[in-house]
Amino acid sequence: MSNFFETIFGPDGQPVKREIEIMLVPDADGNARTVPVRGEAIVMSPDGALDRVVGAVQHFRDCGCPVLSAPGVRCAIAGCGKISCPNCAKRCANCLMPICLEHTEVLMVADSAVDLCPRCFAEIRRKRLFGQLASALLGPFVSTDPRNEP
Ligand SMILES: [Zn+2]
Ligand SMILES: [Zn+2]
Ligand SMILES: [Zn+2]
Repeated sequence: MSNFFETIFGPDGQPVKREIEIMLVPDADGNARTVPVRGEAIVMSPDGALDRVVGAVQHFRDCGCPVLSAPGVRCAIAGCGKISCPNCAKRCANCLMPICLEHTEVLMVADSAVDLCPRCFAEIRRKRLFGQLASALLGPFVSTDPRNEP
């Protein structure tokens, strides 16, 4: 914060009073984290004026939303760990693991969107493709044209 005050009033002022307001924010593990919310400083400037500056700090989650008091949700994809707010966090409809927006794959099933993790998405798409292939092979209009073989 002190750098912030210096950029506004210059480095020569003498701080008279400083105040910082903090907020306790639960993280994805349920532990409280302290984050600065607002800072205020009264600075005696070289020309004798008492300057007062109030700064507000806004914190954002990985999803881009402001940090609220509700706990964030951590993406369970290995190597990701991004924390989204409860509104933005997705859950894989198949394995139920929490995923961030970046790792959410959307599969359209009968005109409705289903959120899936990349692994289940690949798996289900593969099965669906296999299912289509199987029904084509077993269907009543089986093409015998060898060019249709994969
Ligand atoms: Zn969000
Ligand atoms: Zn999944
Ligand atoms: Zn992720």
